[in-house]
Amino acid sequence: MNPIIKTINGPVVYAQNARNLKIREMVSVGNLKLIGEVISVEGDLATIQVYEDTSGLKVGEDIISTSMPLSVRLGPGLLGNMFDGIERPLKHIMDKHGAFIPSGIGFDNLDLEKEWDVKIKFKKGDKIRKADIYATIKETEVIEHRLMSSFDGEIIEAKEDGKYKLEDTILKVENDEGVYELKLYQYWPVRNPRPVKKALSLKNLLVTGQRVLDVFFPIAKGGTVAIPGGFGTGKTMLQHQLAQYSDVDIIVYIGCGERGNEMTQVLEEFPDLIDPNTGKDLMQRTILIANTSNMPVAAREASIYTGITIAEYYKDMGYDVALMADSTSRWAEALREISARLEEIPAEEGYPAYLASRLSKFYERAGYFENLNGTKGSVTLIGAVSPSGGDFSEPVTEATRRSVNVFLGLDRKLAYSRHYPAINWLTSYTNYLEKMQDYYKEHYNSDIISIRNKLMNVLISEEEVKSIMMLVGSDALSDEQKNILDVAALIRNGFLQQNAYNAVDKYVPVDKQIMMLDIIDKYNNLSEQALKDGISYKKIYNSDLLNEISQMKYNVENDKLEKLNQLGSKIENYFANLRG
Ligand code: ADP
Ligand code: MG
Repeated sequence: MNPIIKTINGPVVYAQNARNLKIREMVSVGNLKLIGEVISVEGDLATIQVYEDTSGLKVGEDIISTSMPLSVRLGPGLLGNMFDGIERPLKHIMDKHGAFIPSGIGFDNLDLEKEWDVKIKFKKGDKIRKADIYATIKETEVIEHRLMSSFDGEIIEAKEDGKYKLEDTILKVENDEGVYELKLYQYWPVRNPRPVKKALSLKNLLVTGQRVLDVFFPIAKGGTVAIPGGFGTGKTMLQHQLAQYSDVDIIVYIGCGERGNEMTQVLEEFPDLIDPNTGKDLMQRTILIANTSNMPVAAREASIYTGITIAEYYKDMGYDVALMADSTSRWAEALREISARLEEIPAEEGYPAYLASRLSKFYERAGYFENLNGTKGSVTLIGAVSPSGGDFSEPVTEATRRSVNVFLGLDRKLAYSRHYPAINWLTSYTNYLEKMQDYYKEHYNSDIISIRNKLMNVLISEEEVKSIMMLVGSDALSDEQKNILDVAALIRNGFLQQNAYNAVDKYVPVDKQIMMLDIIDKYNNLSEQALKDGISYKKIYNSDLLNEISQMKYNVENDKLEKLNQLGSKIENYFANLRG
């Protein structure tokens, strides 16, 4: 007896006669052939999570096994494309069917008709090993796609270089188990991490051109990052900036369950973004995965696994990949909704007890790796979290915090006062500071991280001085305390605050970042020393000089850094003259 639908409860379908279904197997559900995944089998009954709208299903309809876990097809044509949470091509579907995604489209995710120019790296008689790169394709103007073998064995048949379609066989491999065909794609089960040779220690900076990140809260390539923040604090904006400016090869951007119009905005905006490194459109090295809140929740639950699997696939080719998920809170809500349908016992705020372990398993797939084929690559994971009311003690933010190494807390007060990026320097942290200290010494011959630590202490002191000021008023402050307020303002306005809409300021090269912080450090040291030498605050304070330092971010073009040396000399002369 074949499995059939017994009951339907939203995205969850119960099957009977289901003894032979396997957990995690992908199935085709009902006459509409909806895509589903078996999540439990007990005796004769199975529970299936369906990735499409189930309203057209009827009790008694057939469920057909595919004997394959929920998988994505990986091959050329991913870049520049947009998919839903189970890798159905949104653009293609919209062109063909309009805004509404018809059900049961199946696995036609990549273009089967397109001809690719393929360079084949193996010939008859060669030995090949799993993960070896057997052919290359210029997938876009900026990225070479590298096809990787799923088998060990000997090549018994090889095509010549030339034009091939996705499903053409270009190599045949023989081993003890049989003969296998290598085409221009492979499948991979999304919930299984792709194997690596070894995990390497993270040692490279993810350069973002954003000063508050590169210097104050640096992210390592292959690292894990959370961006929690209430509504309107700039999460999406920051994710877009990271997508556009990070020095990685490939971007996977998952828009997860945000309101429909917000997602449309992403789909419209991304194709217009220009990659500052290549001058070409960003989509040439980007894959978008979109789930609006009106798409089925189960597909939203799957979307982060689809995204990370695609990210790992490009990482295995030897690329640095960054994945942005906006927002993982919407993903967690999908998990909660499905869990409720399954009548599981809820834990905190209705989320299932396995929320934290799911999140940490997801973030564990980040890293910098030596791949099976000997190349090296990284996957950096950056997840926005949107706690309602900006309350970081809620379960998703808390569980995410335990899974990541960089925590960038966005602050409503900062956003309200238009201090962007609204990253609160007192609640945020990064665990990569020591590693990045070595990185800056090696690559820039700079001890910028020690200076950053020193100036961070000025920001902490500023809080104390401000609370004293609240009690006793500003007149009662000592000269040292007044000076701390000036230096802290320089750090905040002159360095941490960065204008995404200013041509000079939107992206700042690391060497300028270092020189800018050196300038603020110089002012800090010389003013402190002057106070120690008995010169009064009143004499030291000069609003023109402070202003000029604050404005260096706009007034010094990114290719005219000698102006910063001049500013440095000016500060030195100013303090020398105070003594004269
Ligand atoms: P969230 O995703 O957290 O709800 P958004 O990223 O959509 O917030 O940001 C909300 C608004 O804040 C933006 O439309 C923009 O006006 C402003 N904003 C956010 N980040 C910046 C920035 N770096 N520079 C200037 N304005 C910003
Ligand atoms: Mg947003």
